[in-house]
Amino acid sequence: MSTARPYRIAMLSIHTNPLAPLGMPDTGGMSVCIRELARELGRRGHGVDIFTGRTRPGNGETRHLDERVRLIHLDIGPSGQVPKEQLHSRVPRFAEALDDALAQRDTAYHLVHSHYWLSGVVAGKTRALRHLPHVISFHTTALAKRAQCAEEQAPVHRIDAEGGLVRNCDRIVAASVRECQALIKNYKADSGKIGRVPWGVAHNQFRPIDQRAARSRLGLDQTEKLVLFVGRITPVKGLAKLLAAMARLRHYPGLRLLVVGEEREISKGSSKTVGLVVGLVQKLGLSDRVTVAGRIAHEALPHWYSAADCVALPSHDETFGLVALESLACGTPVVATRVGAVETFVQDGRTGILVDDPLPGGLARALEELLTRSQGQRLSPAAIARSVAAHTWSAAAARLLDEYRSVLAHRNEQRQQCRTRQAAHPDSAHPGRVSS
Ligand code: UDP
Repeated sequence: MSTARPYRIAMLSIHTNPLAPLGMPDTGGMSVCIRELARELGRRGHGVDIFTGRTRPGNGETRHLDERVRLIHLDIGPSGQVPKEQLHSRVPRFAEALDDALAQRDTAYHLVHSHYWLSGVVAGKTRALRHLPHVISFHTTALAKRAQCAEEQAPVHRIDAEGGLVRNCDRIVAASVRECQALIKNYKADSGKIGRVPWGVAHNQFRPIDQRAARSRLGLDQTEKLVLFVGRITPVKGLAKLLAAMARLRHYPGLRLLVVGEEREISKGSSKTVGLVVGLVQKLGLSDRVTVAGRIAHEALPHWYSAADCVALPSHDETFGLVALESLACGTPVVATRVGAVETFVQDGRTGILVDDPLPGGLARALEELLTRSQGQRLSPAAIARSVAAHTWSAAAARLLDEYRSVLAHRNEQRQQCRTRQAAHPDSAHPGRVSS
C-alpha cells in the first residue's frame, strides 16, 4: 500500500443488506462487490463502515465483518422488507439517520462511497451537510437498462436523480468500459470524472472441482450435457431468450438447462414466488429439459459451475458479468452476450463464445458449437481457470484505492486554493470549507 495513512470509508447500501443471501431480487453482484471490496480494504489497513437501512427483526445494530469492517444498520422506519420502489420516500429518513450516526461516532470519515442510485441520493445529502467527498458506483442505471431491455422500466424521478448524481458527485466508479460509455451517452457524464474498477473473483472459493464429483454431490446425471444459468430472474438477464434457444436445441440429445436463482416478488413487505419461469418452460414444452433449482447459496455454487459443461450468460445488460467470471474461475467455459466487461476476460473461441446475435438463434448456435467441441478442441478446466487468475478482488481494491486517492488529492487541492484565495483577500467572506 503506497499511502501511509489508512482511510476511513463510509459505504452506503441503503436498499439492500450486502450480507443478505444472494440471488434474490435485490441481491447479486453489487452485494458481492461491496463485501469483497470492504474486506480487501480492511486487509490493507483501512476502516470501512457499511451503512444499510433494510432491517429485519433480529438484525443487530452493528456487525463486525472483519477487524476493520463493520455493517451498521440504521433505523429507517418499521422493520421488515420494504420494496425498493417505496424506498425513495424513505431517503430523507435514511439521510437523517446517517447524519446522526456520523455525528455520534468518534470516527471522521475521509469519504462516502455510495452504491446504487438510492444510496447516491443519501450520500449527496451527506456531501452537502458534512462536506464529505462522494464517490458513487451506480452498478446499473435506469436508462442503461431501458436501452437494452424495453421491459425494464423505471420512474422518472430515478432518471432525474441519476442525472443529478452524475453532475454533483466527486467521482464515479464504473466496473466496465461499457458502463462508462453508457453513463457518458445517457447522462452526459464527464469522462474525466469516471474511474474504472473491474471486479474480481474469490479464487480460493471459485476453483475447479472434478465434474463427476460435483455432479454426484448434487445428484445430477453423469451423462447429460448440462448448461447452467445463474442469476436473478428478471427480464434483463435474458432467461426467456435462453429458454427459446433451448427450444431450438430440442434435437440435441441429453441436453439439460439448470436454472439457478430465485424468482420472487416483494410487495407490501411480503414476498412470494412468482413461477413465471416454470410457466414459460411448460409453454415451450421444455419440462423434461429444464430443471429450475431456485436460489443456491454462493458458497455452494462452485459445485454447480463445475458440474456444468457450459454456463450461459444471455443478459441484455450487466454491470460486469460476474457469473461468467465465476464460471471461468471454476474451469467451465461460457456462452455470453457482449455485456458488462465480459470481453475483457472471456477469450472468444477459446474459453467461451461471445454472441453478437441478440436473437435466440445466435445463442442456440453458440451453445451447440461449444457443446460439440471435440476433446482436443476443449481447454482443460485448469487452463480455463488460469486464464482469469489475474482477476482478483485484491487487484480491484488496489484500483479503488487509486480512485479514492485521486478524489482526496483533488479535495486537498481545492482546499489549498481556497486558503490561498483567502490569504490574498482576507476581507472576502469565504467559508472555511470548500463549498460543495
Ligand atoms: N448468486 C448466488 N445464488 C443464486 C444466484 C446468484 O449466489 O442463486 C450470485 C452469483 O454467483 C453472483 C451474484 O449472485 O455472484 C450475481 O451477480 P451478477 O453481477 O452476475 O448479477 P446481478 O444480480 O448483480 O445483476
